[in-house]
Amino acid sequence: MFEKILIANRGEIALRIQRACRELGIKTVVVHSEADRDAKYVRLADESVCIGPAPARDSYLNMPAIISAAEVTDSEAIHPGYGFLAENADFAERVEKSGFVFIGPRPESIRAMGDKVCAKRAMIEAGVPVVPGSEGALTEDPEEIMQTARDVGYPVIIKAAGGGGGRGMRVVYTEAALLSAVAMTRNEAGAAFNNPEVYMEKFLENPRHIEIQVLADGGRHAVWLGERDCSMQRRHQKVIEEAPAPGIARRLIERIGERCAEACRKMGYRGAGTFEFLYENGEFFFIEMNTRIQVEHTVTEMITGIDLVQQQILIAAGEKFTLRQRDIQFRGHAIECRINAEDAFKFTPSPGRITNWHTPGGPGVRMDSHVFTGYMVPPNYDSMIAKLITYGDTRKQAIARMEIALSEMVVEGVQTNIPLHRELMQDARFIEGGTSIHYLEHKLSQRP
Ligand code: ADP
Repeated sequence: MFEKILIANRGEIALRIQRACRELGIKTVVVHSEADRDAKYVRLADESVCIGPAPARDSYLNMPAIISAAEVTDSEAIHPGYGFLAENADFAERVEKSGFVFIGPRPESIRAMGDKVCAKRAMIEAGVPVVPGSEGALTEDPEEIMQTARDVGYPVIIKAAGGGGGRGMRVVYTEAALLSAVAMTRNEAGAAFNNPEVYMEKFLENPRHIEIQVLADGGRHAVWLGERDCSMQRRHQKVIEEAPAPGIARRLIERIGERCAEACRKMGYRGAGTFEFLYENGEFFFIEMNTRIQVEHTVTEMITGIDLVQQQILIAAGEKFTLRQRDIQFRGHAIECRINAEDAFKFTPSPGRITNWHTPGGPGVRMDSHVFTGYMVPPNYDSMIAKLITYGDTRKQAIARMEIALSEMVVEGVQTNIPLHRELMQDARFIEGGTSIHYLEHKLSQRP
């Protein structure tokens, strides 16, 4: 097992990774920007290294600074968390070339899944159902593009092969708009992702976002750890996640879960990963794979009792992979609310000093947060300051506990989206379960 791991991230996930390391008896090195000097996990770390000024490109995205920090502290492995460099294949490669272990998949897997055309091809080969569309990237031939759209059927969505974070997509409803949409998406993709390749998919009008968590050892062993429903979104950003997904037949989940595990075995995938699907009319359609730990991994941990971050570390250390599919049992229901420092209904960021911070507790309540009274929320990074997770025997109990937990929570000094979460916990459609990815935006647009 490793003796010392460097954590190349910030915020709640830095603390989460640190907790996993401490439980495993591993020393931690935290790298941080000047803005995060006083963070809780920096104080709790065995060692810390300042890697640059606040802007992420000068610190959390600064590969040489992070690798030097690993060298001077004699770290053995680097955990990238999520965001920043977590899905950067070049970073993973540089980490390994410098003699450290990258806690994540092989660089080739990150690269392959980062190219969505390539990822879809791999899924088709592995028998994972994908959204119908162009086979591979679109060519330059206008006739061919129009024929593909006719075959797929309108509306279609044009997506950048290298896209991410909900960017580089355009929905097209008519043939008249098709070619210019393709050209615009190509141009944007070339500028934003350095890859002008685009592809076409059928645009699903009312899907849910359902994803499957996997763990794999890079060889023959892979397991799936159930699904998460992340349909409550605004501008492609997840707001609430839960596990299991309400109202989907278990045999459908089992079938798709097994396909995902099989795909991992075929690809020689290593570590934790997530297969994202759109789900409509009882069918799953793969959209992309995330090759990292995700923000919402917590709800899976709550219903399986498996620590996913520790599993990532064990796999990276080459420990024998002992989890078997039959060992993975699902129990109860978990919900996560992402608490952001922002106006609850206008969504403008609200950085600043937190003058009072009181967190909820009680049975089935988990709080993953690096924040404390006196903490300064920097304006430089994303606005998530906490993840509040509740667990119950039933979905109803998890919701009731969430409502209570949200009502107990006190945050002063910055605005938060707690009022939005409180409203959603009382929302009839949410309580019923199974809302589509458009539900939240639709609800927000109806507000007086
Ligand atoms: P990104 O990597 O940018 O997150 P995704 O491929 O995961 O890109 O798509 C992001 C979101 O865009 C999805 O969660 C969904 O809301 C929407 N979307 C993507 N593809 C489709 C599609 N074929 N039909 C309907 N919505 C889609």
